[in-house]
Amino acid sequence: MHQFINGQRVTANSGHTKRVINPATGETVAEIDEAGADEVDAAVRAARAAVRDWSRATPAERSTVLHRFAQALGERAEEFAQLESQQAGKPIRLTREFDVPGTVDNTAFFAGAARNLEGKAAAEYSPVHTSMIRREAIGVIGSIAPWNYPLQMAAWKMLPAVAAGNAVVLKPAEITPLTSTLFAEVAHGAGLPAGVFNVVVGSGSTAGSALLHHPDVNMLSFTGSTSVGRKVLEAAAGTAKRVHLELGGKAPFVVFDDADLEAAVHGAVAGSLINAGQDCTAATRAIVHRSVYDAFVDGVATLFAKVRIGDTADPGTDMGPLVSMTHRDSVAGFVERARSYARIVVGGEAPGGDHARGSFYLPTLIADVTPAMEVFREEIFGPVLTVTPFDTDDEAFALANDTVYGLAASVWTTDVFRAMRGTREIQSGCVWVNDHIPIISEMPHGGVKQSGFGKDMSTYSFEEYTAVKHVMFDITGDREKAWHRTVFTA
Ligand code: NAD
Repeated sequence: MHQFINGQRVTANSGHTKRVINPATGETVAEIDEAGADEVDAAVRAARAAVRDWSRATPAERSTVLHRFAQALGERAEEFAQLESQQAGKPIRLTREFDVPGTVDNTAFFAGAARNLEGKAAAEYSPVHTSMIRREAIGVIGSIAPWNYPLQMAAWKMLPAVAAGNAVVLKPAEITPLTSTLFAEVAHGAGLPAGVFNVVVGSGSTAGSALLHHPDVNMLSFTGSTSVGRKVLEAAAGTAKRVHLELGGKAPFVVFDDADLEAAVHGAVAGSLINAGQDCTAATRAIVHRSVYDAFVDGVATLFAKVRIGDTADPGTDMGPLVSMTHRDSVAGFVERARSYARIVVGGEAPGGDHARGSFYLPTLIADVTPAMEVFREEIFGPVLTVTPFDTDDEAFALANDTVYGLAASVWTTDVFRAMRGTREIQSGCVWVNDHIPIISEMPHGGVKQSGFGKDMSTYSFEEYTAVKHVMFDITGDREKAWHRTVFTA
């Protein structure tokens, strides 16, 4: 029973099942029933039935439910951490210290934010009218999420939408659905009314497509690859649905000659290997001043070789496997092709022995990379960092922007003017200065260019999940308004 529809777990009747595999061991974590169009339709109908009352609940009522939800998540944190680790192959330290507490904090944040929907003051912007703003829920939101941070992505999709009074049908990635269904179950246990949050577990081509094309869905919210994001846009075009897209990334990591090099080296290792590099904001393209280039390459290579990969249940493990053998092979393919045109400094292979059971891949550093090369241009989505030298600041910013993506970036410098210039010149949704990766519930996450548009987290996300309505009152009581003469004078 892996579907969560109208307040309860139900089994899909499509007849299709799929095994959720622990990518660290190859063992089966669960066998799931896959949703088809019928389950998607039932979930959308449940959401439609629930949204009227939920959108009319007071902000305090919505906030109270979300506060209880945050508390319940906190109480079950270890259960979520274990399940997330098993289904996605994440080291338990990462799920305990990042995925789960981040989700609990996000939930607590939106419990507060639910009471802070803002708009312009009601006032007489014309001398004869009073105008006011209503910020209203959009209705039923169809959300589709990726496999790299299954719990956090479910939370990022669900929380702002529900806090603002919408009802949600979420389709998680079919290979990592387990924590999304549990997330919905815990939400309802905390008092969320039936139908406000539904989870349909199934493939992209069936359940995902049915959700995208369902006529009674008012908005599509998608996190995933840019190629599937284009399909979301196409599906939305038919009925002019609102769309929120969080897509791919290829984050530059710019190291100037005045940077604290040790800090930059440590930052590059953590920033590129988090979640085995399967992070849309991960540092992927180190762009390094020529005077510190060799020292940077040596420093990162030394630390990459020390990273402990292996048993994801062991708190001592640094890096887990890639999410599947198929994805591991895709990452390995990029590195194999790079051998002929760039320098593989360290890594570049799947470890053998006991690790061969899982889809592990060694941290890989590729040096002497130029902008025309495939590894500079394409999203690899694995533990692979490329390094490219530069000579001038303008060249560094041009290299950073030489990508179709614009999700995240970092600049490493001790010069405040350079740092300020970097934050302005680099086209991306986030620029870190002397750090790379941290996120925080109060601040927005979202990209520009082909990384999509719209924001997750923060109160900015209410812009996505609410419609702003202008209400204008005549305050004269005049039957013949002064402005009528512009149209007729009889
Ligand atoms: P993906 O695009 O392959 O799949 C994402 C989701 O879309 C899955 O649930 C999948 O089942 C569904 N899907 C696939 N085909 C579909 C179709 N035809 N119709 C409807 N749904 C369909 O992405 P992925 O491989 O799961 O995740 C990795 C990608 O996600 C990377 O590109 C990464 O950068 C991106 N990502 C972006 C962010 C962000 O905030 N910008 C966050 C996490 C991941």
